[in-house]
Amino acid sequence: MSIRLRLTLWYTGLLAMTLVTFGVIFYVTLARGLLAEVDKTLRRASMEVHRALGASSGNFVFEHVNVTRLDALPMDEFAAPGVYVQIMDERGYVTAASSNLRGSQLPVDPALIETGLTGHESLATLAAGGGERVRVHTTPILVQGRAVGLVLVGQSLHALDVTLRQVGFILVTGVLAATLVAGLVGWALTRRALEPLDHIAAMAERITGADDLSQRIAFSGPRDEVGRLAAAFDRMMGRLERAFRSQERFVADSSHELRTPLTVIRGNLDLLKRSLSPIARREALAAIMEETLRMGRIVDDLLTLAQLDSPQPIEHKPVDMANLLDELYRQAQLLAAGKHRVTLGPIAPATIPGDRDRLKQMLLNLVENALRYTAEGESVAISSKLYPPGSRLSAPGEHGRRYAERETLAVSVSDTGIGIASEDLPRLFEPFYRVDKARSRARGGTGLALSIVQGIAQAHGGWVTVQSELGKGSTFTVWLPIFF
Ligand code: ADP
Repeated sequence: MSIRLRLTLWYTGLLAMTLVTFGVIFYVTLARGLLAEVDKTLRRASMEVHRALGASSGNFVFEHVNVTRLDALPMDEFAAPGVYVQIMDERGYVTAASSNLRGSQLPVDPALIETGLTGHESLATLAAGGGERVRVHTTPILVQGRAVGLVLVGQSLHALDVTLRQVGFILVTGVLAATLVAGLVGWALTRRALEPLDHIAAMAERITGADDLSQRIAFSGPRDEVGRLAAAFDRMMGRLERAFRSQERFVADSSHELRTPLTVIRGNLDLLKRSLSPIARREALAAIMEETLRMGRIVDDLLTLAQLDSPQPIEHKPVDMANLLDELYRQAQLLAAGKHRVTLGPIAPATIPGDRDRLKQMLLNLVENALRYTAEGESVAISSKLYPPGSRLSAPGEHGRRYAERETLAVSVSDTGIGIASEDLPRLFEPFYRVDKARSRARGGTGLALSIVQGIAQAHGGWVTVQSELGKGSTFTVWLPIFF
């Protein structure tokens, strides 16, 4: 069952229920009220008849009660219109009746006469033939405590019945009409409200069918629930498309990067086939060796990236970062081989949960880059700093700022090297992205080092930022929240 049908049915059903409940309460209250009014009139009339008869005074002579006497009763025809009076003796014979009965009689019920003769009054609705109903009030005529006859006062319920029938008709048709109109209007309204959803569903089907991730719903309606759904769908498509494109690019780039050394190797093998001079052979072998090593490095890096993408990329054991930075510093000095000045400090004492080998690999990548893209004689500095929760930290992305949710360690590797142009910064951490391909390759870079740095930082719940100025140098900072 569609949402539209369900909504309409619910809403119409609830409305119908409310209207029916209201209608029934209204009808019953009205019927009771009208009947109570009739009963009140009858009681009053009955009292007047008794008073006029003077039964209670004791000087009552039953035979004297006749039509003339009844008609002479001081009853107000306006206050009690259409009230009939009938007197019966204790055997149940009618001895007198008001002239407005015109010779006919009020309907009687033997049970009520019985009740009346035992000295009790009663009120009853009796059928008067022809579908009409009469309300009859029966009271005993008591002479010295004994019931010698009955006073029956009646009023036709014709007007009341007609009124109730009309009200009932209006209520039933009103409820039916209101329900029908509400159902139709609801059906039309839900159609309008749900139309965009249909549109979104159709669009999603089309995107899936066409296998085209660049399509968007581009919903132009109000920003209500449906509008937000459409916008969320478009954002999701955007992310999917970016992820898909970067995956495609990554595969293409990887193949390309691996093909280059393969081409060199094949070329040198061809040379070797044509027996050359020993020097040329040695050169060809050296080239093959170098390219094989490069391929090995690329494959290792790709493997590392793949592992970082897995759901459980790293272990979380306490790692003494001051100690690790000390070790990194010594290794950096070895790598610099006296060509660069390497400095350490200030260092904040901190222990973070993580994978020591991965953390070291991450920082070593930064140090290697710093040395690689820095001219001889320039310097490379390693330092770290602790930020308490709530500090403003730099972060990648649009705003470039975020507040520390917990204590955060920032490890920086700065150099006074060639620097990076600001337009290259946003894509720097993408796999195989290089500012200067030839230079990177010549210096042994695989183009994956910064992707790995980012991957490891993220696996530790952290992130990487870079500050750089062309010709002046760069500072890469890894931000590691301390989860303990
Ligand atoms: P590569 O293997 O080419 O070094 P990376 O992922 O490590 O690949 O770095 C990507 C690019 O970022 C490099 O090609 C280089 O142009 C630039 N880069 C990285 N680190 C530095 C740095 N410290 N100084 C200047 N440029 C850098």
